[in-house]
Amino acid sequence: MLPRLHSQSDIHPTVLVFLQQLEANGFTGDIETQYSSRLAVATDNSVYQKLPQAVVHPKTTHDVQLIGQLANQDKFSNVTFSPRGGGTGTNGQSLTSGVVIDLSRHMNKVLEINEDEGWVRVQTGIVKDALNDAVRPFGYFFSPDLSTSNRATLGGMVNTDASGQGSLKYGKTSDHVLSLQAVFADGSLLESSESVDVLSEGTFAKQAVEIARQVCTSQQALINEKFPPLNRFLTGYDLKNAYQADDDTFDFTRILCGAEAL
Ligand SMILES: Cc1cc2nc3c(=O)[nH]c(=O)nc-3n(C[C@H](O)[C@H](O)[C@H](O)COP(=O)(O)OP(=O)(O)OC[C@H]3O[C@@H](n4cnc5c(N)ncnc54)[C@H](O)[C@@H]3O)c2cc1C
Repeated sequence: MLPRLHSQSDIHPTVLVFLQQLEANGFTGDIETQYSSRLAVATDNSVYQKLPQAVVHPKTTHDVQLIGQLANQDKFSNVTFSPRGGGTGTNGQSLTSGVVIDLSRHMNKVLEINEDEGWVRVQTGIVKDALNDAVRPFGYFFSPDLSTSNRATLGGMVNTDASGQGSLKYGKTSDHVLSLQAVFADGSLLESSESVDVLSEGTFAKQAVEIARQVCTSQQALINEKFPPLNRFLTGYDLKNAYQADDDTFDFTRILCGAEAL
């Protein structure tokens, strides 16, 4: 059965068809087209405002993949998306006149805490303060100290490579990320610490890793010349630190952290 969507006259028919097919394909999260839901994510902490056509709230990684797989079909090439966490970004980055993918409603759990090795595995929509509440009993804290920590999510922090006061001592988000699971625009899935060999040929995930590695290795001299030596470094693709010539290793996690800026 197709979902009952609030069919506002300003929602593009293709978006409505997309949402109906998404549900029919097994999307388990929430799909909202009512004006109140759209308005709630039409602003962030910037001066901008953009009314999206719909908001979807995935419950699982597979839900996020379903969005990408469907969006990759030619007939939906005009449907645009923006992920959203806490909406604390200051430049309107999470705003879109397309479809907002809100990762904060459902995908906000701590999945695993390894006290001995000092790492934690979380879902992308967890708020930073909630993460620290979870690890505090073990004597740990996630150190990037941004002032929006009671709202900002880990996904938003990774995407902007957030830091804050204390970053000279504790570093920024990318300094504390061991591995990322990323869903690409075609729905392909990547575990950034795994070998590229496990990825299927032709997927956006495989292409992204191979091209990034090729750029970092072949253009290393130019990259080193252009990127200034900064303590805080830049937000954006961290081309300079992704490839280590000493041991010929390439870390795609460094490319994903801060990737929103470009
Ligand atoms: C008063 C104020 C103070 C701030 N102080 C700091 C500070 O000290 N240091 C600092 O670094 N930043 C600061 N910020 C900026 C902002 O809080 C950070 O960038 C924060 O990390 C954004 O997290 P969020 O969950 O709110 O992301 P959002 O605002 O929801 O999104 C930000 C970007 O991340 C993308 N995104 C969100 N979630 C995901 C996801 N799960 N997967 C992929 N992409 C995603 C969005 O599409 C968007 O491009 C401040 C902002 C304000 C308003």
